[in-house]
Amino acid sequence: MGGTFDPIHYGHLLAAEECRSKLGIEKIIFVPTGDPPHKKDYKIASAEDRYAMTLLATAGVAEFSVSRTEIDRAKFTYTVDTLLEFNAAGIKPDELFFITGLDAMLSITHWFDYERIPELCTLVTATRPGWNVKALKKLPEFILRNLKIIEIPQFAVSSTVVRERIKNNMSIRFLVPHLVEIYIASNGLYKI
Ligand code: NAP
Repeated sequence: MGGTFDPIHYGHLLAAEECRSKLGIEKIIFVPTGDPPHKKDYKIASAEDRYAMTLLATAGVAEFSVSRTEIDRAKFTYTVDTLLEFNAAGIKPDELFFITGLDAMLSITHWFDYERIPELCTLVTATRPGWNVKALKKLPEFILRNLKIIEIPQFAVSSTVVRERIKNNMSIRFLVPHLVEIYIASNGLYKI
């Protein structure tokens, strides 16, 4: 499951669990992005902070783990490289699913070497309230053939909402796991 996770919230965890149970996935590996080549519009929390929060959010869930692979990559991180790494580690393409949000999936044709991605895994997109699934139709046929759409229970939270609430001194309790809330407060994240 790939994402910036800036910060991770219950929407991500709910999406992960829904995909796991609906697709019969054995294990969900959260892969926080390292230095995203496409994120130039706002300053994101450091890779280490986002990694730490993802670890705290998933701690104690036997089927969930977190990978440092993109965090530790010295160069820009591309999904295709991550999938190749997982394949090389022995997870065959028919056993590997790449899960991400609908907005992110809609931009897949701009990703580096995206044409190779359907050979390396099955794509999965998690839908959220207010997101237009019909927009996916614009994606090329070879992507759509490889794509599974999983509907997630209505829970309208996003990382942007969480960051905005912190900036406006509003509570984020029950939007993110308690340990993530404590981490954000202790480290003064997203205040400005
Ligand atoms: P993002 O900013 O993390 O997310 C874009 C949208 O999708 C946001 O609305 C986000 O909601 C939602 N989202 C993200 N991850 C989700 C998840 N796991 N489950 C449900 N919703 C999710 O997206 P991004 O930085 O573009 O990255 C998403 C994934 O695509 C990453 O793994 C990234 O590496 C990959 N990607 C690869 C390339 C490339 O290879 N060149 C380019 C772009 C993206 P929240 O804000 O609430 O998270």
